[in-house]
Amino acid sequence: MALSEIFCQDKAIGSLQRAYAAGRMAHAYLFEGADGVGKRTTARAWAKMLLCENKQTVNAEPAFVDSCGVCHACQTFDAGGHPDFRPIYKELVQFTAKGKNKKTPVDMPIDVIREFLIDKVSSRPTMGDFVVYVVDEAEKVNASSQNALLKVLEEPPAYCVIILLCSRIDKMLPTTLSRCQLVRFGPVSTEQIVGRLTAEGVNEAEAVFWSHFSQGSLGSSLVWSQLQTKDSTVYAIKQQLLEKLCTLQLPDVVDMAEWMGKSAKAIAAAWGKQAENVSTTDITRRSQKALVQMITCALHDVIKLHVGQAEGWVHADQKQCVQALAGRTDAETAARQIEQCCQITRWIDASVNEKLIFEQLLLKLTLNGSEADIMA
Ligand SMILES: [Zn+2]
Repeated sequence: MALSEIFCQDKAIGSLQRAYAAGRMAHAYLFEGADGVGKRTTARAWAKMLLCENKQTVNAEPAFVDSCGVCHACQTFDAGGHPDFRPIYKELVQFTAKGKNKKTPVDMPIDVIREFLIDKVSSRPTMGDFVVYVVDEAEKVNASSQNALLKVLEEPPAYCVIILLCSRIDKMLPTTLSRCQLVRFGPVSTEQIVGRLTAEGVNEAEAVFWSHFSQGSLGSSLVWSQLQTKDSTVYAIKQQLLEKLCTLQLPDVVDMAEWMGKSAKAIAAAWGKQAENVSTTDITRRSQKALVQMITCALHDVIKLHVGQAEGWVHADQKQCVQALAGRTDAETAARQIEQCCQITRWIDASVNEKLIFEQLLLKLTLNGSEADIMA
């Protein structure tokens, strides 16, 4: 994709272009914003432009330079084989010296950072003028790995461009931040997301739901709305989830937990087919967290309803379910239950047994969030 084809991130791309035109291009960037707002797409397109052998001036004022799309470098880039474009992601752990058969961890392994970035920065470009490194999920590079990176970020060789992609800026050390040029990627507006999704054939109520659920992330909205599990869609699963939730009683907990487990597996299986370079463990975790997130959103809607806020509900497409849930959950209880959902999300990251996770969550919800933590 070329820079000019990127949807809804004009501000971020404009700031990159201005610095480039003024000859002040940074060599270490931090692209910050929610998952799916276009950080990775922009990083790739920026890299492609830098590596292009025949850069095109699309616009002189304000300056906008883009890749040509046809030169040898662009074609090699599009085919996924450009030697000077180096994406760094945690799944590379399998290709580190000691990583054979290692499972992908939650955090970015230091060996990946060391062997694929720090040890490589001294190697010069093989085709063009630059080598571009794009570090995925930089928020998962822990403090000691960030410290190991500092020297490289401080003085990268002139041919080196390092882009850290980050959705949680609070996880980055001040020393890392001070060495990077920060480029913020804002949320995409509901209208723009709905416009794009309906153009793909998604119905409007569903499009609005995904836009709110993904907090203005076009990429996530597109993925979610298009995932087809074996015999359903994720949207149909979310509708059932809410229906089950608003009538949930203690005797239903085991069955519903089992249903959630199966649904998470079905979503993960569908997702796995289209997500390259992402480990099964990661996709399973993300699918489980999405189901918990749907419940969290319903509880936020309950609070909004109790305080008389009729706008901006995530589950506005299932108003009756939200009303039924609000009928049995006051605002204070909903707030407590949201806390419990957050705790469950942490358990998912800690790889606690899936069946236990959903059972505990639903138990807590049926006990109205008033009981002491069962496991804590
Ligand atoms: Zn080109």
